[in-house]
Amino acid sequence: MTHFDAIIIGAGSAGYNAARILGANGKSVAMVDKGPLGGLCILRGCMPTKTMLRSTDVLQVIRDADELGIQVDNVRADFAAIMARQQRLVKGFQDYRIEGIHRAPNATLIQGAARFAGPDRIEVDGVTYTADRFLIATGSTPSVPEVPGLEAAGYITSDEAMSLTRLPARMVVWGGGVIALELGQFYARLGVAVTMLLRGEHVLSREDEDVQAVVEAALDAGGITLVRNARPLSVEARDGLKVMALAQGDRTVTLEAEEILVATGRKPLLAPLDLDAAGVETPGGCIKVDGQMRTTNPAIFAAGDCLGDFFLVHVAIQQAEVAAHNMLGKSPARTADYRLLASAVYTDPNVARVGLSEKDAAAQEREVLVGKYDFADLGKAECMGKGAMQGFVKLLADPATGEILGASIVGPEGADLIHELIVAMEFRCTAERLMQIPHLHPTLAEIITYPAEEIAEARAERALAIG
Ligand SMILES: Cc1cc2nc3c(=O)[nH]c(=O)nc-3n(C[C@H](O)[C@H](O)[C@H](O)COP(=O)(O)OP(=O)(O)OC[C@H]3O[C@@H](n4cnc5c(N)ncnc54)[C@H](O)[C@@H]3O)c2cc1C
Repeated sequence: MTHFDAIIIGAGSAGYNAARILGANGKSVAMVDKGPLGGLCILRGCMPTKTMLRSTDVLQVIRDADELGIQVDNVRADFAAIMARQQRLVKGFQDYRIEGIHRAPNATLIQGAARFAGPDRIEVDGVTYTADRFLIATGSTPSVPEVPGLEAAGYITSDEAMSLTRLPARMVVWGGGVIALELGQFYARLGVAVTMLLRGEHVLSREDEDVQAVVEAALDAGGITLVRNARPLSVEARDGLKVMALAQGDRTVTLEAEEILVATGRKPLLAPLDLDAAGVETPGGCIKVDGQMRTTNPAIFAAGDCLGDFFLVHVAIQQAEVAAHNMLGKSPARTADYRLLASAVYTDPNVARVGLSEKDAAAQEREVLVGKYDFADLGKAECMGKGAMQGFVKLLADPATGEILGASIVGPEGADLIHELIVAMEFRCTAERLMQIPHLHPTLAEIITYPAEEIAEARAERALAIG
């Protein structure tokens, strides 16, 4: 029986980063992965989607070029070439990651699916391994609701979308979250007639209504049909088509499409781990951890998508770093801190957020001051053209101290612009300080000073009123 200081189950973003930290601190580490090696972000997540979206973003810029005095005739997107480029880049990212896995200090790679055979041991292909500490980092899998006929009629998830070879004429995209929006816009821009089914009234249910409104207007302008409050009832394959019946309020609607993309969320991948044998509790199908990323078995930690909370790669890595620190037994112990929780949707316009939204503030009954500025009123956005003039930057601040508590950006390069606000919040910057920090002109980034100024003015008025 082979013993390690630590066994990491899953060599994706979370597992790989934890293994490197543990190994670099002199611990013997086994990284177990059932393959293919590379992790979701590289193989079927962040990287392939962003590669694909770059193609359709450029396509849109070319389509809008007329506004800039540039005539382009016969614009044609080559889906096969877009997908070939995506697969070539992904192979490069994967090779680089595999090289990193093999070079990780003090680490042994064990290829195969792990299953716990007790609280201190796992089995991989009939071989038992023991360790002092474990990290579960097995990631997630698409969550597909049960609908009569769906399995038989066939569908794709984002996994299959990464290797799709032919564009359907029509596609039903079931979902209104980040994956549905990114892929829905990608296909629509390539000429697919996309119908998007929303469970509720709006896309991106956690975002504020003004954010949702800008995104929905952009989807609408891009020819995507939104079906709100939709509940699929059945699917049937008929004459090469997938025919879906869905309930929308009191009425039943029938949709026909060549393909259905199910993008209704993801769930932790916990099979075939046998977490009962390890004494790890999984209420609601998600691994339960404390702030130190420790499960209900104190020798077993968990990080990343398998927790079922954020499904974001930078959070998976942050949780893995906290877990690795605590697996080393370093003092003081570290705790995961989500004050700077940030996320982005890479649609056009981008949607990005850090910290509080207005919805969060209302739910917490927390008073905030809000400053907001439209890209349509920003000189640089006007220079860039109408595509850059959608959306706004919104800042939320504490009325008493002026500290920035959250920011939403819906607009051009939002996923990059949000970093200024993440840094500002890290250092607990106030609206007053933020507006005084030099910003180049004309830039997209200078927009951030305007809502900061609005908040600073509101605070000054309040101070005068109080007297
Ligand atoms: C379409 C799409 C787009 C995305 N875009 C973004 C984005 O732009 N930005 C962002 O932040 N996030 C994005 N995400 C989410 C991001 O990819 C994940 O949050 C992140 O990759 C999760 O990392 P992880 O280490 O937890 O899991 P993974 O990277 O999935 O790693 C889990 C590993 O565990 C292995 N494994 C599983 N079970 C076992 C077992 N029993 N034994 C051995 N090995 C096992 C698997 O083979 C895998 O290698 C996207 C996701 C999708 C689906």
